[in-house]
Amino acid sequence: MTFKALRATKQADAITTGIVDLDEGDLMPGDVTDTVDYSSVNYKDALALAGSGGVIRTFPITPGIDLAGTVAESGFPGVVAGDRVVVNSWGLSQTHDGGYAQKARVPGEWLVKLPDRFSTKDATAIGTAGYTAMLCVLALEHGGLTPASGDVLVTGASGGVGSVSIALLSGLGYRVIASTGRVEEAGYLRELGAADVIDRGSLSEPGAGIASVRWAGAIDSVGSHTLANVLARTQYRGVVAACGLAQGNDLPGSVLPFILRNVTLAGIDSVNAPQEVRLEAWSRLARDLDLGKLARTTQVVGLSDVPRVAADLLAGRLRGRTVVDVNA
Ligand code: NDP
Repeated sequence: MTFKALRATKQADAITTGIVDLDEGDLMPGDVTDTVDYSSVNYKDALALAGSGGVIRTFPITPGIDLAGTVAESGFPGVVAGDRVVVNSWGLSQTHDGGYAQKARVPGEWLVKLPDRFSTKDATAIGTAGYTAMLCVLALEHGGLTPASGDVLVTGASGGVGSVSIALLSGLGYRVIASTGRVEEAGYLRELGAADVIDRGSLSEPGAGIASVRWAGAIDSVGSHTLANVLARTQYRGVVAACGLAQGNDLPGSVLPFILRNVTLAGIDSVNAPQEVRLEAWSRLARDLDLGKLARTTQVVGLSDVPRVAADLLAGRLRGRTVVDVNA
C-alpha cells in the first residue's frame, strides 16, 4: 500500500523536491497514523522549500507544517481511529515528516481534535497562520484590550496571519486598520472586515521612538521598522502582539512606548505552544471565525503545485491562505 508524498532532498546547498511513492515502512515513529486530506502553504513552508531560515534540519523529509485528516490507527490514549484531527507545527518539516503526503505518523500529543464546526479543509485553511492569528487575538485580550479600547492595526494584512486576524478582530467588534503594500487588495481587506486600509510604506522606514497615537493595539507579522513604528503610535496601556518577521527580524525601536505609555509587547510563538493553549485557540476559532470570510481568503492547490506556490508567497504574489489537497 503506497502513498504519495512531496519529498525534499538536499544536494550541495540546493533543495530539490519531487513527488514519490512511499509505503508504511517509510513512516516516521509516532503513536498515531493519519490519513491526510489537506496541508497548507505558510511563510515557514516557503522558507523551508527555498532552503532559507534553517527550517528543515534533516533530509530527506516531507515538508508541510500543517496537516489535517482522519486517524487510521492510534496507540495514544483518548485518540481513536476515525477521529478528525489537525497538527500545526511542532516538529513537522523540521525534524519530522509533515503534511505534504497522503499519510503521516506523529506523536499523539501533537494532535488537536477538530471542533465539529470545521472540515479538514477548513482546518488547513486556518492552518498555522490562522491559529497564530488567534493566539495574537488572545494576547490582546489577555493584555486587557476590548473593542471599546480603540482601533486595532493589522500589518502584513493581505498575508495569511493578516487576513485571518482581520476576520477574527472585525467579527469580535474591533475597528480594524489594515496595513498593506498592495493597495489593489483594499477591496479584499474591506470584505474581511477592515474599516480602514493604509499603505505599509507609512510604517516601514526608520521613525521616531514615540509619535502621535494612532491605535489601541496591533497584530504585527512584519517586525523590523514596522514594529518599531507600530509601538511608537500605540496608545497608553495599549497591547501589540508580535508574531512575524516579513520585513526583518530586527527591532530598531525605543523603550519610550513601554516606559511612557505603558505599552505591552506580547511575543507569540505557535510552534512550541503547549497543548492547553492550542485547545483554547482552536475552541475560540470555532466560536469566533466566520467561515464565509475564511473561504474568501482561501485558494486550493495540488501537491505538485506546492513549489511554485511557495515561491509566489515569498515574492509577495499570494494573498490569504493556500490549502494543499494532497489527493489532487
Ligand atoms: P504571508 O506571506 O502570507 O504574509 C506576509 C505578509 O507580510 C505579506 O502578504 C505582505 O502583506 C507582508 N510583507 C511581505 N514582505 C514584507 C516586507 N518586506 N515589508 C513589509 N511587509 C511585508 O505569511 P504568513 O502570514 O504565513 O506569515 C507572516 C509572518 O508571520 C512570517 O514572518 C511568519 O514567519 C510569521 N509567523 C510566525 C508564527 C509564530 O509562531 N510566531 C506562526 C506563523 C507565522 P501585504 O502585501 O499586505 O503588505
